[in-house]
Amino acid sequence: KEAVYKNFIEQIIDKDIEEGRCGEVVTRFPPEPNGCLHIGHAKSIILNSGLARKYKGRFNLRFDDTNPEKEKIEFVQSIIEDVKWLGGDFEDRLFYASDYFDKMYDAAVKLIKKGKAYVCELTADEIREYRGTLTEPGKESPYRNRDVNESLKLFENMKSGLYNDGSMVLRAKIDMSSPNMNMRDPVIYRISKMSHHNTGDKWCIYPMYDFAHPIEDAIEGITHSICTLEFEDHRPLYDWVVNELEYENPPKQIEFAKLFLKNVVTGKRYIKKLVEDNIVDGWDDPRLVSISALRRRGFTPSALRMFMELGGVSKSNSVSDYAMLEYCIREDLKLKKQRIMAVIDPVKLIITNYPEDTVEYLEVLNNQENEEMGKRLVPFSKELYIERSDFMIEPPKKYFRLYKGNEVRMMNAYFVTCTGYETDESGNVTVIYAEYDSMTKSGTGFSERKVKGTIHWVSKAHAVKASVRLYENLVDEEKGVYNEDGSINLNPYSITVMDSCFIEPSIKDAKPYDSYQFLRNGFFCVDYKDSTSEKLVFNRIASLKSEL
Ligand code: ATP
Ligand code: MG
Ligand code: MG
Repeated sequence: KEAVYKNFIEQIIDKDIEEGRCGEVVTRFPPEPNGCLHIGHAKSIILNSGLARKYKGRFNLRFDDTNPEKEKIEFVQSIIEDVKWLGGDFEDRLFYASDYFDKMYDAAVKLIKKGKAYVCELTADEIREYRGTLTEPGKESPYRNRDVNESLKLFENMKSGLYNDGSMVLRAKIDMSSPNMNMRDPVIYRISKMSHHNTGDKWCIYPMYDFAHPIEDAIEGITHSICTLEFEDHRPLYDWVVNELEYENPPKQIEFAKLFLKNVVTGKRYIKKLVEDNIVDGWDDPRLVSISALRRRGFTPSALRMFMELGGVSKSNSVSDYAMLEYCIREDLKLKKQRIMAVIDPVKLIITNYPEDTVEYLEVLNNQENEEMGKRLVPFSKELYIERSDFMIEPPKKYFRLYKGNEVRMMNAYFVTCTGYETDESGNVTVIYAEYDSMTKSGTGFSERKVKGTIHWVSKAHAVKASVRLYENLVDEEKGVYNEDGSINLNPYSITVMDSCFIEPSIKDAKPYDSYQFLRNGFFCVDYKDSTSEKLVFNRIASLKSEL
């Protein structure tokens, strides 16, 4: 029997099932709709939806929209799209935490009645002061032991809008000398006379995250509430809430380490700033690692899943390499995508002994490593484009491409020998001349002599003109991601636009999000925003070589 590695969360779930604590596994992804999702969220989506799939359970998408100060509803649609794209299969289980406000209010009333919560009139500063420190126990609020009925009345009045913001709060009555600061009578409801995008002006009191979240999970029957490590010391409060509220099958919080990418901007806050400062072209600029940017750049859900698999799920923080992400997309695309010839920085090559007005259609494999992808015809003629870097006037040692007197293979076609070149007044090469040997055609089995260089090309008369964008890291890695003042060290060379590229004609029907391997140049994806049928625009997803 095959040994299957299980991560620590799967081991917990297995045990819960074995010991009868859990029937159907139910997980959720609970984003705040206040920004777009990034690769870190992708980890959580892939993990949670993957567990539901693996255990044949359910996966919910829940907007955690309990905080009227922070939420902007405008991100709801993009989040839904991103979760679906990643394969997060929530079907009709799309929920809004704000739909549970009534139940949360009832839960608070229940706690008051049990003597487990009280209305406190200390100011925010006083509450902080009374809370004590890590080395000193806290001091009880003078309102802590007020009569249950008084708290009930005051809480109702809070709800009715009789008091001002900040004048009183509802606190859980737990333990002012707990070594865990979160347990020192945390605030669970506050007054905030703000409209909420969903409930409008119905409420002027709102629950705090640590109180709301376990209730949301319990209402939805979540069995395993998976969150990131910084919530570890909130778990005792989570457990306290679900126990005091006496839910029948209380959810269980499990923490895992966040995904960090070395030298890459992830936090919502920082991405937002780059967007607002117009440093990038929106939330989906292909240099970003928001999910929409990754999609626009040409990353695939399966490459992201592979990346998350390789990174694993763990309890200790670590930093992943962007190069690993590139490895995953190369692995995903290499056998699936057509490999075509595209000249990104063109210079003309004329084959002087090739007949004028002749076009040969050469049969070429779509993918040399996957013959099942079939073949196509590529036109070859007297005038071609080749990469500027495939010719040198004065080549260094070990340069095997074109220079005067040297012979190379034109990929899928003939051997050619360079016979000369022309330059303009500033010395730039404008045209290269060569002669071909008709005996050397690819596929004919010619073997009398060998050449060391093979270069790609595009027939000038048949070429499709395109624009190609090459990317580097948005941040200057030498200097580190952030300056002391918190601003980002931008790399001035993060984008290079190559505006007159020539691609073989098979590209002409390319549609947004289609991706290809451009031989020797990397993997490229049609940009959905800027590409038109008149002028195709490509984003380089990744080069072919690994920099690991
Ligand atoms: P950020 O501030 O990085 O944009 P957030 O935690 O404020 O993220 P939420 O909308 O609260 O964003 O996150 C939704 C879910 O995604 C949470 O369960 C959170 O734990 C998870 N999550 C956020 N960032 C990461 C990350 N880097 N790695 C793994 N999970 C993450
Ligand atoms: Mg958050
Ligand atoms: Mg955050």
